[in-house]
Formats: sequence, C-alpha cells, structure tokens
Amino acid sequence: MKPAQLLLAYQRLVEKERELRDEIERVESLLASDPDVAHGEQALANARAEKQAIQLRLRESDREREAHRTRLRSREKELMSGRIRNPTELIQMNQEVQHMKASFAEEEEAELRLMEEAELAEQAVLEASERLQEARTRSASDEPALRRDLESWQAELVTVKADSEAAWAQVTPAAQNAYLRVRVHPPVAEVDHNQCLACHVTVTSSGMQALRKGDDIVHCDNCGRILVIA
Ligand SMILES: [Zn+2]
Repeated sequence: MKPAQLLLAYQRLVEKERELRDEIERVESLLASDPDVAHGEQALANARAEKQAIQLRLRESDREREAHRTRLRSREKELMSGRIRNPTELIQMNQEVQHMKASFAEEEEAELRLMEEAELAEQAVLEASERLQEARTRSASDEPALRRDLESWQAELVTVKADSEAAWAQVTPAAQNAYLRVRVHPPVAEVDHNQCLACHVTVTSSGMQALRKGDDIVHCDNCGRILVIA
C-alpha cells in the first residue's frame, strides 16, 4: 500500500475505534442506570409526595371541621335553651349560627373536593408504580442482550486497537508526521472526480498526477488534508 492509502486505512480504524468506545460507553451507562427506570422512580416519588401532602391537608381539614361542628352545636343548644331573653342578643346569635352553618357547608364542599384530589393522587401513585414496574421489567429483559453486545464490542475494540497500531507501524515516519500535522479532522480525505471529498474543492492537475503516482503525500490546497484517490 502507498503511504496515503495506509494513512486512510489507519484513519478508518481510528474512527471505528472511537465508534466502538462510544457504543461501549453508552451501553455501560445504560446498564449502570436505565434512564427510563430512573425517570420512573422519580415520577413515583413525586406522586407519593403529592399524595402525602393531600392526605395531610385532609387530616387538617377533618380536625378543623370537627372543631367547627362542636362550636356550632354548642351555639345551637344555647340558642334553643331559652336562656337568652334579650331579642337583640337572640337575633345576633341566630345570625351567628346561620353564618356558621353556611361556612360549615362550604368547608364540607372543600373537604369533598379534597377527597376527590386524594383519590386522584392515589390513582396517580398506582399508575406511576405500574409504569416503574414496566420500565424495570423491560430494562431487565433488555439487559442480557446489552451485555452480549457489550462483550462483543469490547472484544472487537481489542482487535481494532491492535489493527490500528499495526497499521500505524507500517506508515513511514515522514507520513506519520504529515498526518499528525494536519489540523482538521479527519486528516485524510478521498479524492473522486478530481475533487477533495472533504471540502469539495478541485485538485490541481499536478496534484492529481502526484496522487496517481502515490509515492508522495499530497495535501488539499484548500483544506490541507492528506489526499488519497478513492
Ligand atoms: Zn480539501
């Protein structure tokens, strides 16, 4: 193989190596923590917190209502007892009782709404719990295949690394230096129909001649990549 062809082969192996590393990293992090499961756990925790908050409000509302009911009853008793003779006072107390009854009815309404909310919150907890279970089941069933993929990619990475090292060793020091000096990525570009396929600028005829001979490293005049005929 000519120097530029060796460099292209080396570059392809390096790219393959990077793809494998990315895949391995992706699968490793998926195995460490499945995002669907993590998301499901968070959603369940949120739903439980919401349910607890509503239950707390419901208990407080129960306590308040009980206190108001007791006060209302004692006022009604007083009103009916006949102990109060003063008409103004009677009217006032009657108004107070009516007012208490009205606000008590409002509290009952509010309590009913709160109970509905509590039911919905309970339902949300059940649903979140089901979804989490599904995510866990799916994650567990995906795991063996992921582990198999991981193992085969790890094995492939070892081979590709060895191949890329071997390919690099075949490259002459001059060509290695030329490759390392290219500042754009990837450093080697193929030429097709007299065009650098990386930047699409036409290669000069003298450049094409040198490329066809293939003994020297030829750079693209525009992007600076090392050229190789496709
Ligand atoms: Zn170019």
